[in-house]
Amino acid sequence: MGVDVSDHDGDPAVAAAVATLAVEHDCSIVAVAGGTTAEDLAARVAASTDGLLALDTRAVTSCASGLRVHRPAFGGAFDAEIEVGRSRRLVVTFDPGSVTGGPPLAAIGMLTIEPSPGPVRLVEQRHEDEALPLSRARRVVAGGRGIGGPEGFTELGKLADALGAAMAASRPPCDAGWVPGHHQVGITGARVAPELYVAVGISGSVQHRAGMHSAQTVVAINTDPEAPILRHADLAVVGDWREVVAGMLEVLSDDATPPSRQHAGQPIGAER
Ligand SMILES: Cc1cc2nc3c(=O)[nH]c(=O)nc-3n(C[C@H](O)[C@H](O)[C@H](O)COP(=O)(O)OP(=O)(O)OC[C@H]3O[C@@H](n4cnc5c(N)ncnc54)[C@H](O)[C@@H]3O)c2cc1C
Repeated sequence: MGVDVSDHDGDPAVAAAVATLAVEHDCSIVAVAGGTTAEDLAARVAASTDGLLALDTRAVTSCASGLRVHRPAFGGAFDAEIEVGRSRRLVVTFDPGSVTGGPPLAAIGMLTIEPSPGPVRLVEQRHEDEALPLSRARRVVAGGRGIGGPEGFTELGKLADALGAAMAASRPPCDAGWVPGHHQVGITGARVAPELYVAVGISGSVQHRAGMHSAQTVVAINTDPEAPILRHADLAVVGDWREVVAGMLEVLSDDATPPSRQHAGQPIGAER
């Protein structure tokens, strides 16, 4: 059974309805798509149906003992394979970017769910900003501690606007209140899989990379040539972000002129 909860607002009634359907139809696997909302729903479905929960899977295959779950471990540094029996229902969510291509799934039915009067209910939904949702953005510009403060993020926002990208951050800027907490990418933040991820003033800790390792193209800007993020970038630029970003904005502006040498930074070879 496959469930897409991209537009689901977190009402537990939806999880209860999915759990009921899974039991009624004796589904051995419930696959849930839709970012962090999917994780919330999957956990509720697994708990209420006594199922096994596997988050961020890349694939589920058959094996002699039952099913084999493939998922990243240690922030994406390793691929783990976990064998589970078939005696309990398996509830999975997918690692961003792991499910691509293929024909669109046809809806086989429409489910209408009444909001539940249960112990947990949605009282108010607040949108902190109207910016592009991070989890669905095709381009992301992320800033780290190296940005230096909230003013720096205002400047970085100009690059995000010019690229049509969503703004993101590593954990320190969120903890410091430079940007809202929902901007955080990483193991305890959002997981993204954009076509382009621009990491600015981010060292590239394993906790941060866990949230962006599925990005197709990574551009990293850092003053430190030894910063780990540079080894995981397709384009690594060693330089002060202010100068490099100013050069990028110059190129991206309508009356684009070639970037001056002082803006160009120093690209170095990189391996991913
Ligand atoms: C349990 C746990 C969970 C965590 N979860 C997350 C998570 O989800 N997401 C996350 O991001 N972190 C997470 N962290 C924190 C993580 O370990 C790192 O501390 C964090 O990612 C570092 O953020 P940073 O790269 O912005 O800062 P730093 O590591 O301080 O790096 C700043 C970088 O900016 C560069 N820099 C400085 N000035 C400039 C300049 N002018 N121009 C260009 N570059 C410059 C520096 O060279 C440096 O590489 C977690 C930690 C723990 C223990």
